[in-house]
Order: sequence, then structure tokens, then C-alpha cells
Amino acid sequence: MEGPTGGAFDGSGAVELIAELRRGFDSGRTRSYEWRAEQLKGIARMIEEKEAEIMAALHDDLAKPRLESFLHEISMAKASCTFALKEMKQWMKPEKVPTSITTFPSSAEIVSEPLGIVLIISAWNYPFLLSIDPVIGAIAAGNAVALKPSEVSPTTSSFFAKILPTYVDNSCIKVVEGSIPETRVLLEQKWDKIFYTGSKNVGRIVMAAAAKHLTPVTLELGGKSPVVVDSNVNIKVAAKRIAVGKWGSNSGQACIAPDYILTTKAFAKTLVDALKITLDKFYGNDPLESGDLSRLVNVKHFSRLTNLLNDKKISGTIIYGGQRDEKLLKIAPTLLLDVPHDSLIMDEEIFGPLLPIITFDKIEQCFDFIQSKEKPLAAYLFTKDKKLEEKFVKTVSAGGILINDTGLHFANPHLPFGGVGESGMGAYHGKFSFDAFSHKKSVLSRGFAGEVPARYPPYTQQKQKILRGLINGSFIALLLALIGLPRD
Ligand code: NAD
Repeated sequence: MEGPTGGAFDGSGAVELIAELRRGFDSGRTRSYEWRAEQLKGIARMIEEKEAEIMAALHDDLAKPRLESFLHEISMAKASCTFALKEMKQWMKPEKVPTSITTFPSSAEIVSEPLGIVLIISAWNYPFLLSIDPVIGAIAAGNAVALKPSEVSPTTSSFFAKILPTYVDNSCIKVVEGSIPETRVLLEQKWDKIFYTGSKNVGRIVMAAAAKHLTPVTLELGGKSPVVVDSNVNIKVAAKRIAVGKWGSNSGQACIAPDYILTTKAFAKTLVDALKITLDKFYGNDPLESGDLSRLVNVKHFSRLTNLLNDKKISGTIIYGGQRDEKLLKIAPTLLLDVPHDSLIMDEEIFGPLLPIITFDKIEQCFDFIQSKEKPLAAYLFTKDKKLEEKFVKTVSAGGILINDTGLHFANPHLPFGGVGESGMGAYHGKFSFDAFSHKKSVLSRGFAGEVPARYPPYTQQKQKILRGLINGSFIALLLALIGLPRD
């Protein structure tokens, strides 16, 4: 694998990389609005001019349908860039905040300053968006950046290495290609922030490496995102929205794809029938041949999913799909009904086209089930019952919640996107991206008037009384404090 300046990327390459980024950041140029805007315009231009190449790379890595590539990666990246360009001036402004009686008279503000040099490590499933989106946030916040795209999606990774530097300031924004050894070398260095997207196991490695330098991290991880389906829903719409969030999102290889469905025993047949009709319409009789279904990223993931299907505990539960073709790296959309709770498929994040459905007597039992598991990245509820919706929002802890749809909350830049518990820490998107890469510096400013003699030694009983009164908001105490004390 190549380093940012060509040649093998080893420890000395990493030291050089850090030094160059540090020089760039210390020069102060990444802090100016003009530099930030120029880089973001460069990225917007790259997306515009290289759309066909990006689509081709995504097709090469995942056989991603063109419409999915456009909707889920290219247009989202463009929107993120445009939003940052529009809002950045406002985000950069110091935020005036109130002062308190104890600091009177004074003024106070929060100044957002860039953290410095940041490392972004991204995942393979949305290899374009998940790389460029945090880069946009890091630049908007005025940092120097190194991006390490995933080696598992090699064509998109080399697109970034070859093309991004031709659109941005290459001394402050760098792309490093590499797999685990190269990432390890990068993680040994001292960064001012690490932003990681990927699995929770690697998240732990990233966090341990960051701890050595007390480097702050954002961890965008995964988990098993549940969908609860109530019996009062518009079932045709619900089935389409569940199906598109699962199989229409990279064949289920999406961090917020529905991982499993929970519903009542009484409603299961209606739901299953609707899902079958929808899937027949979406992907036809031979889904493995459908150009509208992404393939699995590689043989390792194909085998991982096949192992889940081969688990003896789930035998007899496949009610739709199940066909697979290793050469095509495809598994058909597959529904499984009432898999045992302790089966493999209910233990790990599925991250593929298999969708188990679990049934309970009462809908509320579904909430208890979710709460008995690790906190997911997303939780979905389909219902017309407002009370149930309220209860879901109140009781279910998840990175994000979406009612009566799947995946779409990701697309609202006014909402933070991130996990909680084992699904991650920190968040990004819109202003939250800017904040993820900024330090919020408190600035309190005072003049020389407004002396409070009571705060200075010698500490007397009377001074203590006045200060207590002042802290409790007594106006008389304030007057006494400001005009000075009678002699003790
Ligand atoms: P991954 O952890 O295998 O790889 C992600 C990155 O980590 C890659 O750049 C890779 O080079 C690096 N890496 C892998 N192993 C490493 C190691 N041992 N040491 C150091 N670096 C290492 O994750 P993945 O398979 O690419 O992604 C799948 C996971 O990511 C799923 O759990 C999914 O839910 C999650 N995900 C989360 C989000 C989100 O936004 N929250 C988005 C996409 C994927």
C-alpha cells in the first residue's frame, strides 16, 4: 500500500506525514474562513466533476446500483458540503453567553477553535460518503486532516488517494491508503482527534490507542437496529419502507439497516405476506440476478452470513429467500420467522440481506426485548398509536429513533448522527460535525471596574456573610460588595 507521498507507508512515513500536517496547521492557514471555504468548494467541484468515476468505483467495490450510489452517497456528500458552505460563517462566530452575578461585571463567549490535526478512519460499506463527510466537518472546523479509507473497498480508496489531492490543499489534507498494519502505524502517532467509523471491536482498538495520547475520539459504530411493527399500520407502506431500508441500502450492509423485526404473533402473517409481495415486486423471481441489489463486499462476509444461515438453531425458520451464489457474492433477501433468541443471527450484527422476525404476545414486550440488548444505533417503530410512539421514544435508548420509516433520519443535517453505549460515542452531521472537530473554548472577559473587596484576604466573618449573600443573589450583598465594606 502507498503512503501519502508514494512508497511504502511505514513508521517513518507516518512521522513525516504528521510533521507535514502539523506544519500546515501551525502555519495558521487552515483557520481562516477563506481556506476552509476554498477546500469545501474544491470537494463540491470534485463531486460534481467526478460523479461518473465515483459511481464506477462504488459499482466496482459493491455492485452498488447507480440510484443508490447517487441517493445515499453522492447527493448526500454534495448536500453536506453545500450545507457547511452555507452555515460555516455562522458556526465559526463566537457564541455570546450570559454571565453570572459572581463574575459581574463581565462578558462571556464560547469560541470554537480547531483541534489541530485529525485522523479519519472510514468503513467500506458507504466508502465514499463515510470518508468525505467527516472530512467536510473537519475542514469546516479548520483542522488539517488525514483520511484513511477502507482497504476493503479498494477502488473507492484509490479514487480518494488519486483524486482528492488534486482538488484540495495537499499539504493540509492527505489521504493514506492501507490496511491493518498501516492503520496501526497511524494510530500510534499523536493526533488531536481520531474519528473512526467501523465495527465495535476495532473501535476498542482505536480508543485504546487514543488513550495513550489522551486523544479525543468519535466512534461511529454499529449494532443490531430493531424495527417494531404495530398491527394498526398502513402495511403496504410499512413493508416498502422496511424493505428499502434493508435491501435497498447496500443489501443490508448499512449500519442503520433494520437488523431484525419485532411484532405481535397475531400480526406476523399480515406483515410477512406484505414483505413477500414487496420483495417480489422489488427484485423479481430471481433476486440474485437483479441489478437493483448490491453484492456482498467479499468472500469473508459471504461466508460470515452463510454461517449465520447454517446455524442449526435456526433450521426451519427461513420463510422466504435463502438462495445464494458465492461467485456472484450474493444472497437473496431472506426472511426468517421466530428464530430462537439465542441463535447466532440474534447475537451479532447481521450486516447483510437476512431479516429475522421475532414475535411476542403484546407489542410492549418488544420494547422490553430491545432494552434487554446492547443499545442500538437506530431503533424504528411503525405505528399509528401516538401513545405507543411516546412510550417508545421515552423508554428505548438508541443512537437515533425514526417513527414509520427506516434510515431517513440520517439525511437530516439538523439531527446529530451517532451511537450510544456499544453503538458508538459522539455524533456528526451538519453543525454536529463542526462541533465534533472543534474545541469549545470558554472566554470570560472583565474590565478593571467592579472590584469586590470581599473576595480578597484577610477573610473576615463579615466578608464571608457578604459573599454568601452575593452567591445567593442578594441585591444588598451586591451593593455592599461593590461599594466596599464597613470596617470590621
Ligand atoms: P472495520 O472495523 O473492519 O474497518 C473499518 C476501518 O478500520 C478500516 O479503515 C480498516 O482499515 C480499519 N481496521 C480494521 N481492522 C483494524 C485493526 N485491527 N486495527 C486498526 N484498524 C483496523 O469495520 P467495517 O467492517 O469496515 O465496517 C462494518 C462495521 O461498521 C459495522 O459494525 C457497521 O455497523 C459499522 N458502521 C458504522 C457506521 C456509522 O456511521 N455508525 C457506518 C458504517 C459502518
